[in-house]
Amino acid sequence: MNWNLISAELRAQVLELSHQAKAAHLASALSCIDILAVLYESILVFDPNNLDWPDRDRFILSKGHAAAGLYAVLSRKGVLHPSQLATYGKANSLLEEHPSPNLPGVEAATGSLGHGLPIANGMALASRIQKKSFRVYALLSDGECNEGSVWEAAMFAARHKLSNLCAIVDFNKWQATGRSQEVLALDPLVDKWRAFGWAVEEIDGHDHDQLSTQLSRKCAGLPRVYIAHTVKGKGISFMEDDNNWHYRVPTRDEINMAREELGLE
Ligand SMILES: [Mg+2]
Repeated sequence: MNWNLISAELRAQVLELSHQAKAAHLASALSCIDILAVLYESILVFDPNNLDWPDRDRFILSKGHAAAGLYAVLSRKGVLHPSQLATYGKANSLLEEHPSPNLPGVEAATGSLGHGLPIANGMALASRIQKKSFRVYALLSDGECNEGSVWEAAMFAARHKLSNLCAIVDFNKWQATGRSQEVLALDPLVDKWRAFGWAVEEIDGHDHDQLSTQLSRKCAGLPRVYIAHTVKGKGISFMEDDNNWHYRVPTRDEINMAREELGLE
């Protein structure tokens, strides 16, 4: 698997989507694109031609503002046609700036932060009650961990020992208006999740091999959370760790420069 090329192409796709739709949250999608790539290429059990298959693994993009990243990877998997991608962010498109389950391949409406993990809890519990073997994955942002509902869900998952549930926190150290640690301090994030009864691993959210190995691990008896250290705007030097790109839209010249950096020109 040529992970670097896959991620470069996904990043280029996200840049294009942001430019065409004049949509925000570019840097938030770039920080989690390697996680999305590994999930959809090597972890999730699902059939792009049978999206309603009851035994499919579920993925919830709880940080719904990174929808462009999800659309890019769904396009790569053949779930979305290029003509659908071109409608992103336009009136009446199913590709809204935050995901909608009206779009086949999207499991839940997200973007109001703090909702994805509770939904994932319900799906993981349903999997057990129905004696199914599907697993549920939820990708959260670090800023999202400010939400009380995240911690209510964390308690619920531990109480019910939802070992078929995996949360991933895209820990890019920023949120919309500033440094996550300054807006509402998260530290010590690992200890907090552990205290809530979860198995916790810290990983490099841009290391595809580490992501592949770690995300495929099953955990006996406990829900598992990965604190994935990432860089907001990852992959484009003039966007990395610059929170202006939470809202900025790239110009055509900036896309061309970015594509060069990504090795695509
Ligand atoms: Mg963040």
